[in-house]
Amino acid sequence: MSINEKQQKLLRGLPGIDRILDISKKESFFVNIPKTVMVNAARLAVDEQRISILNNRDIYENRDTTDSFILRRVKKHVEQIMAPNLIPVINGTGIVVHTNLGRSLLPENAVQNIISVSRKYSNLEFDLEKGKRGSRYTIVEDILCGISGAEAAMVVNNNAGAVFICLDTMAREKEVIVSRGELVEIGGSFRIPDVMAKSGAVLKEVGTTNRTHLQDYEKGIDANTALLLKVHTSNYAVLGFTATVLLKELADLGVKNDIPVMEDLGSGSFIDFSRYGFPKEPTVQESVAAGADLVTFSGDKLLGGPQAGIILGKKAFIDRIKKNPMARALRIDKLTLAALESVLSLYNDFDNAVETIPTLRMLTVEFPVIEKRAVKLAGMLENIDNPGLKIRLMDRSSRAGGGSLPLLQLPSKCVGVNLENCSPNSLETFMRKNDPPIIGRIEDDTFIIDLRTVDDDELTLIKTAFATL
Ligand SMILES: *Cc1c(COP(=O)(O)O)cnc(C)c1O
Repeated sequence: MSINEKQQKLLRGLPGIDRILDISKKESFFVNIPKTVMVNAARLAVDEQRISILNNRDIYENRDTTDSFILRRVKKHVEQIMAPNLIPVINGTGIVVHTNLGRSLLPENAVQNIISVSRKYSNLEFDLEKGKRGSRYTIVEDILCGISGAEAAMVVNNNAGAVFICLDTMAREKEVIVSRGELVEIGGSFRIPDVMAKSGAVLKEVGTTNRTHLQDYEKGIDANTALLLKVHTSNYAVLGFTATVLLKELADLGVKNDIPVMEDLGSGSFIDFSRYGFPKEPTVQESVAAGADLVTFSGDKLLGGPQAGIILGKKAFIDRIKKNPMARALRIDKLTLAALESVLSLYNDFDNAVETIPTLRMLTVEFPVIEKRAVKLAGMLENIDNPGLKIRLMDRSSRAGGGSLPLLQLPSKCVGVNLENCSPNSLETFMRKNDPPIIGRIEDDTFIIDLRTVDDDELTLIKTAFATL
């Protein structure tokens, strides 16, 4: 590419970084911006300008105008650099435990507790009774045992970590028997066989994909067996000619052979959702009562709390897990503990928990409530003065998400939006790039927002986004 004379002149006229820093001092916007940010933004702005010149785009030749022009670009880059990358979004997908959108929203008491604990020193690992070093695990152990009926409890960073540390503690270089029907892959590359390999435990598959019987486990047991593992088939269901072994039967087999039994519940819940007409899922309490020696589950799936891995079980095993050096690597953070304790405290009253924990509230909210919200949003959007905008109410189903209740279709009400001369894909992109981003889905060539996962106070933000189209 040959550069003409005009371009050469313009390139020579580009201000240096020092000059930009100098002229920026006159504008109040730049006064409190850190120097490193200014230098980065100025470089980006000059580079952008250089590319414009080389591509022969129209730019101002007059030096003063170039200054204000380039300062505008610098300002844009400063704003981009300073803006946080992790931001709230509006979840219009109807998927309640949406892993890509942060899974569970915390109830207000947990948010407040995070704020108060993070501002000050805390008794995280300090026993205030004895005035000595304490353990962070004791913060939630009593309440977990109280709700679940377990002898002991500990918590780690997430459930993948919980499964890993249990296997590593119980079965390093020994065999773990699992049904072929339960060799789960959860999204984001968590696979039971891989986790097992990393923990040093040896996987012994028994049964078949659709049917596993108690004899299969029985025949699999030998001198090298360290654990019988049951894994909740979180995100899929095997239907038709199937057979699985109940946890209770497995626990009895474990007792008979003196082999511990563990259940990975995945999205464990204290609430029996069959009360709300959902398919029956084992609750955490039921798994403990059925005799599991260890039970693991996530803090941020159906429990509705922060990301955490909860381990419940017999004290002797939990004590060994607490002493595993990997516990340090998988250690739960103090802010998570603050949130988890607050969320667990809500479970002292199950009915109240369903009302106050957002994940539970959104899963169990009654259809008329969603419908009312959908009608309200549709009305707000219809009031926008844009004849190209076509709004309609649609009956669709939402899902629980987070690899829980995979077959459950929750009847929901959606608002569908089409815009003349604009594809649903472009509409989806526009909404995704809105501030705040609005995440919906496309069905029937229509951009749709499922009101199950949208809060009443977000309706105005959605209206504003569509009003700027
Ligand atoms: C989700 C899930 C996990 C992983 O839990 P995280 O909290 O996401 O680490 C492990 N096992 C099962 C069965 C699950 O459903």
